[in-house]
Amino acid sequence: MPIQVLNLGKKYGQQWAVEGLNFQAQPGEIIGFLGPNGAGKSTTLKMLVGLLNPSIGTASIHGIEVQSDAIALKKQIGYLAENNPVYQDMYVKEFLAFIGNLHGFSAENCARRIAEVIELVGLSREQSKKIGELSKGYQQRVGIAQAIFHNPDILILDEPTSGLDPNQMEEIRHLILSLKSNKTILFSSHLLSEVESICDRILLINKGTLRADCSMQEAKSYPGGLPAFFQDKTK
Ligand code: ADP
Repeated sequence: MPIQVLNLGKKYGQQWAVEGLNFQAQPGEIIGFLGPNGAGKSTTLKMLVGLLNPSIGTASIHGIEVQSDAIALKKQIGYLAENNPVYQDMYVKEFLAFIGNLHGFSAENCARRIAEVIELVGLSREQSKKIGELSKGYQQRVGIAQAIFHNPDILILDEPTSGLDPNQMEEIRHLILSLKSNKTILFSSHLLSEVESICDRILLINKGTLRADCSMQEAKSYPGGLPAFFQDKTK
């Protein structure tokens, strides 16, 4: 099982940001982790990638408990953090070489993989530029390139299209879809339209608890359609 979450919760001070989450993800699924701002999406994703310790419950990635072995965990997952913290002063290829190094690629394998990911994410024309000189959409491609560098079969993307204009959003959505082949992709969004256009399944979170876990088809056949589904579940 790529992702298994059992009674997962996180408390900041006296306040539960996330409480009692249970869900699983199967190979090849694209899951939209949908919810309004402050719902607990980032907190959950950070627990899944081992950046935050759960206060209660467990999460496992391919059977590895997220708190048990950070290095084994990182091999399985590609993660794009919210606001994509790439180094603005680095060149695209320099940054990707740095990522390859972190993953322990030899110089030769690293150069080959850099060329591959540049092609995969559509950065060929921008590959010799400084990251800070790229548009926000292209910077996001760099963020996705670092997430897929080691070819993980699980991708966890935190609001990958936030702050992009509509054209850039569409391009990034298209890119995410193109990466799908047999990967499990969990991405968060506060935008219904976003999740609608690329997901097989919706996990809807509000005020730290899961309000729905269903196929996109089920959500669409909710009385009143998707907007009513979203509105009712986020009351
Ligand atoms: P989302 O990603 O859905 O916008 P978050 O997971 O960022 O939501 O936040 C969930 C809740 O936890 C919010 O109420 C937020 O204010 C709170 N929160 C997030 N991070 C921290 C933190 N480091 N310290 C205290 N509260 C936090």
